[in-house]
Amino acid sequence: HPPEQEDDSSQDHLTAVRRAYQRKLPSELATLERLLFEAQTDPSDKEKLRECHRISHTVHGTAGTLGFAEVSKAAGDIEAICKHLLSGKQAPDRSLWDGVFGLLEKAQTAPERPSLIMQEPTTRMATGIATILIVDADADTLAALEEIGRKNLVTVLGATQGDQALEIANDKRPDGAIIDIDFGGRGGSTRLLQRLHVIEGMSDLPVAFMSAETTITERTVAAHAGASQFLQKPLNSDDIVDIARYFTAVRTSTSSKIVIVDDDEMFRAHIAAILRQEGMEVTTLGDPEQVLEVVETLRPDIVLLDVVMPEVNGFDVCRMLRSTQSGKDVPILFLTAESDPDVRVECFRAGGDDYIEKPVIKEELLARIGVRLERIRLFKERADRDALTNLPNRRAFLELLRLRIAEGQRYDRQVSLCLMDIDKFKHVNDTYGHLAGDRVLAGLGKLLASRFRAVDVRGRWGGEEFSVAFYGEPSEMAKMILGRVLEEFRLMTFEGDHGEKFQCTFSAGVATFPQDGRSTDELFRIADEKLYRAKETGRNRIEI
Ligand code: GH3
Ligand code: MG
Ligand code: MG
Repeated sequence: HPPEQEDDSSQDHLTAVRRAYQRKLPSELATLERLLFEAQTDPSDKEKLRECHRISHTVHGTAGTLGFAEVSKAAGDIEAICKHLLSGKQAPDRSLWDGVFGLLEKAQTAPERPSLIMQEPTTRMATGIATILIVDADADTLAALEEIGRKNLVTVLGATQGDQALEIANDKRPDGAIIDIDFGGRGGSTRLLQRLHVIEGMSDLPVAFMSAETTITERTVAAHAGASQFLQKPLNSDDIVDIARYFTAVRTSTSSKIVIVDDDEMFRAHIAAILRQEGMEVTTLGDPEQVLEVVETLRPDIVLLDVVMPEVNGFDVCRMLRSTQSGKDVPILFLTAESDPDVRVECFRAGGDDYIEKPVIKEELLARIGVRLERIRLFKERADRDALTNLPNRRAFLELLRLRIAEGQRYDRQVSLCLMDIDKFKHVNDTYGHLAGDRVLAGLGKLLASRFRAVDVRGRWGGEEFSVAFYGEPSEMAKMILGRVLEEFRLMTFEGDHGEKFQCTFSAGVATFPQDGRSTDELFRIADEKLYRAKETGRNRIEI
């Protein structure tokens, strides 16, 4: 059977999964009852007891995860007794069996309804470069940062209280948060960070810590808490723009891919629904047989692996994955209902990165996954950026552009691609020196990064060529927006190696999806043609 890849990720789906499980539960428990009777009748038949252990183990995990706490607890107790009996340490006696059937009855008559209620994720709004939540006990500091933000198209939402910060995060959906490390006394800032991350849809909120001191201890605290950046107080205009840029880069990166391997269908569906609600791409597998193939083709960011499965156990699957090229580095998180220390040790010995105990608590699952994803993102961020201009490199730009085009396709919006090339740049290098040339490139990079909206993509295409894609804008608008940047660029004064002052211009060509082309190749070809025209007709202009 092929991997399941359903797309219905909403609240309805979760409710449906719970209802389906509620319907399925009686027959599951009836099967368990029958097997327990058979096991009691023929104590020599260990296979029956093993089967009882397996079923109660599964019910324990899944019922707990889906919010049926009493059923889960009773099944967990039955599981423990089965395990005890299987160990052969004690012969089953009458009272033990009475206990087992008492527990089963408790599970069968539990009146409960699943309790977890999930909210619809609210969509984030793009205004200016980014919206940042800043938490600091000092109102004057916040006022100053809000002012800096205003001047740089960054919306700064200040909070002097923890509850206020949570409220803002919930209502305004910021792109990222900066927290003063000393906020709220000892451990206060880390606690706040954790509370921010458990807000629905905020588990991947990028967070930076700021502090007047930058000791190793402070940095360690920040890194440990999962803050991706550390900023030195007082923050200036560049700090705010840089961090805003970073936050939006994180947010607009492609969604994370998760593979779940678990033999329990309900459990799989439930975990998948939670993760999809957070915008992750989830593939579920009921049978570990296909896992190598799926990891090879999908290249997931994380694999969630059940430990106890009927045919092979998760540890062996993990070892197998670790021996392959595509699986050797992928983070593997075990899902296990066993909490004894041996099992935990085995998780790591088998090559796992972490383990999560069943019944799975949503917040814990998201927090554990969030930490991993943030680490992956940071790493990718560095590899995807051009060192001189700090803009996405060609490959990263193409990836982001494809994403925007796919969105444009889905929502029937235009995407205007601009290809820019600095005029007579060879002359700049020859006259003022290569370093001066580099300063021009860095200057234009910085200008491009600090203009436009968060949805617009920009990159260094190569050499002295840059690329920008405006989402939802026709060619005329793209020309006007980019025209303002050209004006700004013309006015920038650069310094040659011997202190000479000089200025530069660029030429650009624009191609718009869908009318000029539907693929990135076509769009680049047209944009390049237009760019050539701009050069031919006198440079320092934009052709559409
Ligand atoms: P045109 O107006 O027709 O674009 O003329 P041009 O001189 O800009 O075009 P050409 O393609 O002939 O020259 C581009 C130059 O850009 C040549 C190359 O040495 C320089 N260049 C490319 N990458 C870098 C870089 O990273 N740093 C510096 N300083 N120069 C670079
Ligand atoms: Mg060129
Ligand atoms: Mg050039």
